[in-house]
Amino acid sequence: MTTPYDWISKSLNTIHQANWYRTPKTITSSPGPIVELEGRSLINFASNDYLGLAGHPHLIEAAITATQKYGTGSTGSRLLSGHRDIHRQLELAIANLKQTEDAIVFSSGYLANLGTITALVGQRDLILSDQYNHSSLKNGAKLSNATIIHYNHCDLSDLHHKLQQYRHQYRHCLIITDTIFSMDGDICQVSEVLDLAESMNCMLLVDEAHATGIMGKKGAGCVDYFGCTGRSLIQMGTLSKAIGSLGGYVAGNAVLIDFLRNRSATWIYTTALSPADTAAAIAAIELIQTEPQRRDKLWENVNFLQQKLSHLNILPSQSPIICLECANPSQALELSQKLIIAGIFAPAIRPPTVPTSRIRFSVMATHETAHLQQLINNLVLRNIGNV
Ligand code: PMP
Repeated sequence: MTTPYDWISKSLNTIHQANWYRTPKTITSSPGPIVELEGRSLINFASNDYLGLAGHPHLIEAAITATQKYGTGSTGSRLLSGHRDIHRQLELAIANLKQTEDAIVFSSGYLANLGTITALVGQRDLILSDQYNHSSLKNGAKLSNATIIHYNHCDLSDLHHKLQQYRHQYRHCLIITDTIFSMDGDICQVSEVLDLAESMNCMLLVDEAHATGIMGKKGAGCVDYFGCTGRSLIQMGTLSKAIGSLGGYVAGNAVLIDFLRNRSATWIYTTALSPADTAAAIAAIELIQTEPQRRDKLWENVNFLQQKLSHLNILPSQSPIICLECANPSQALELSQKLIIAGIFAPAIRPPTVPTSRIRFSVMATHETAHLQQLINNLVLRNIGNV
C-alpha cells in the first residue's frame, strides 16, 4: 500500500546517492580546542567559538546566577508576558558595542534575518543579494515576497550594474550581504557597498554573524573595522559564535528598532531568549570590550595558519574561516575522515550548502601552537591535504 509519505524516503535516497547525506557527530565534552567526539579526543577546528568564551567561567557563572533568579524559561513572548530586565540590558550592551542608538535581540541569528527582511520589504520591493549569502538571508529574502536579484560574489561592479538596471522599477530596495562569508571566510568591502547603497537610495543589511567579537578594535565587527560606525545601515549578528551564547541581534537607529519591535513576526510571536543565554551574552560582551588579548591571540593563530597552508588549495580568506577546496563531495568526506583518524575534527562542507566541496577549518583564540602544528603536519608533511 502506498502512503502520501513515500516520497520522503525516495528523496532521502537521492540525497544519499549524491553523497550529500549529513548527520551530526556527538560531542561529550565542554567547548574548547580539544573535544571528546564519539570516543576520541580530537583537536577541534569545527567550532564558531572564536574567542573561546563558550566555556568561560564568567559566562557560566552569569548563566547560573540568572537561572537562579529568573528560572530556566522566559515563559512567553516579550510583548505579551513582559521581558526580564536582562533582556533590555543585553540590547543596550549590543548597542554600546556597535555604537548604534538601539538594538533588539531575537532567539537566534537565523530568526533575526528572517524577521528583519520580511518586516522591511514586500511585494513591491527589490532585494539585491550576494550569491554566497548565508541561508538565513536567502530564506528571509524568499519569505518577504520581494523580487530577488543575486549579484556575483563580492562583485561591486555587478551590484552597481544591477542597481542601475533594476532599482528604479521598485519602491524600496534592500541590499543584503554577509560581512565575513561563513563558508569561504572572505570579507565584503562594507564601506564601498554602503557608499553604493546610499548613492542608489537603498537600505543595506549586513550580517555580522562571524565578525562580531573578532573584527574592529573592540570587537564591534566589520562595520567598525571599515570605519562605518555611525552611518545609517542595518547590522545583524548572532550571539552564538564569538559571543559564546545563543540568540541573534539587530543593531541600528532607534526608529528601525522600534519598527522591528512592532513588525517583526519572528520577534513578536516567539518566546524571549532564556535568562541563562541572555546573561551569558551580557558577560561575553563585557569581556570582548575589555579584554582584547583573546582577539589578538586569535589573529596571531589565523595569520600563522594562513601562512603555513598558503601553498595548498586554500580558498582566499581574511578571517578565522579557512577552507581547503576538494574536487568532489566524496573526496571531502574522505579527507574529513582521514583527519579524524589523525586526531583532528574539521567538517566536510558539500553542495548544496556550497558550490564546491571543501573542508572548513575554524581557528580559535584557544588553539595552542601545538594544535595548529598538528594540523599543518597532517595537511602538509603527511601530504593528506594535497587534494
Ligand atoms: N548568518 C550567518 C552568516 C551564519 O553563519 C549563521 C549561523 N551559521 C547565522 C546567520 C544564523 O545564526 P544563528 O546560529 O544564531 O541562528
